[in-house]
Amino acid sequence: MNRREFLFSTLATFALAALPKLTLAEEAAVSEAVRAKINPKNKLGFGFMRLPLKNPADQTDIDYDELNKMVDLFLERGFTYFDTAWMYMGYESEIALRKSLVERHPRNKFTVASKLPVGMIKSKAEQEQVFNKQLEKTGLDYFDYYLVHNINPNTIDNVRNFDSFKFVNDKKKQGKVKNVGFSFHGDADMLEEVMKEYADEVDFVQLQINYIDWDNPGIEGRRCYEIVQRYNKPVIVMEPVKGGSLANLPPKVEQIFKNVEPNMSPASWAIRYAASLPGVMMVLSGMSNLAQVEDNTAYMQNFVPLDDKEKRVIETAVKALHDELQIPCTACRYCVDSCPMKIAIPDYFMLYNKGANGRGSNPFKAYKGAYDKLAQTYGKASSCIACRLCEKNCPQHIEISQWMKKLAKVFEA
Ligand code: SF4
Ligand code: SF4
Repeated sequence: MNRREFLFSTLATFALAALPKLTLAEEAAVSEAVRAKINPKNKLGFGFMRLPLKNPADQTDIDYDELNKMVDLFLERGFTYFDTAWMYMGYESEIALRKSLVERHPRNKFTVASKLPVGMIKSKAEQEQVFNKQLEKTGLDYFDYYLVHNINPNTIDNVRNFDSFKFVNDKKKQGKVKNVGFSFHGDADMLEEVMKEYADEVDFVQLQINYIDWDNPGIEGRRCYEIVQRYNKPVIVMEPVKGGSLANLPPKVEQIFKNVEPNMSPASWAIRYAASLPGVMMVLSGMSNLAQVEDNTAYMQNFVPLDDKEKRVIETAVKALHDELQIPCTACRYCVDSCPMKIAIPDYFMLYNKGANGRGSNPFKAYKGAYDKLAQTYGKASSCIACRLCEKNCPQHIEISQWMKKLAKVFEA
């Protein structure tokens, strides 16, 4: 099967109806109270979820020489917000934050966000244990921002049963948390429900917003943003570059941006798109090397929102992107721990996406070596038993077990 046939067969499997329609960010009413909490010159947050690695097959083998330089430059350029979580980087992210930031810089030069992993917690009492351990891992006395992590249809029962918002607000009363929020991975109807129930207990909401998912029915970025504005809360944006996929565009899509601004990176368009929304307080970028920090901070230092002409350019790019088929994996790794076969799901998806955007009659061949290397440590795609445990945790609603069959054909044939 050549690439064209392959893409055609895949298109037949995945409903085109699920693709987003082409619309641009319009301004929902944003209250003065929300605007007052936003500093347009400090809208870039450093996400500690894709840190530089010495060994790409080991998420915990962090390259501290590189990371320290990244942290220093980020602070030097006037940014302050760092975002970590309990399970990022194989549970090592909070420790990396302590070593690279907390132990090397004065406390008044930065703010830190971490999260209560409510989907992984088994009892109300465990919340206290995890929270205390997080303070120990990060070396902090308090979190500037603390979120109930990843509210979605599979975790909301825990949030209710464990009284998670009361727990976090008690920590706020004790001075161990300054601002309370939650990150959200459900649909807009569910968000409305959550806001009705908990809006009085939160200071901000973290949403998945990027230009390709603004009107994607599976993500509903626009509707979610509008709901949060109705409740007068500032938004923190996660996945503005969709796990890197909007930073590594297919060549013909990248060219659309280069034709207009030859010196600006594709990531700059995606991050500025999210930051241009007036209700957005912070845009998180999961930076993996010094070059990305240099790039992100350069255009966010003197941030200028997108103008109408630039929004039209993005619209053209969205149209072109719809012609390219990719797995919409953001490399959040929420699926990884649940897989009984220890399959390197996001790493295989990244190789597949690179292959799908390659050239030649077998563009996947170039990535087979990297696949084989990963498969020496992790389960192969063909070892998938279709239990679908991973799919319950996937915020992008990817049919992972179906994709595993395709990946096995492409990389193991
Ligand atoms: S469906 Fe496959 S990839 Fe997903 S958890 Fe089960 S074995 Fe792992
Ligand atoms: S498959 Fe889904 S859960 Fe797993 S890393 Fe990708 S986006 Fe995250």
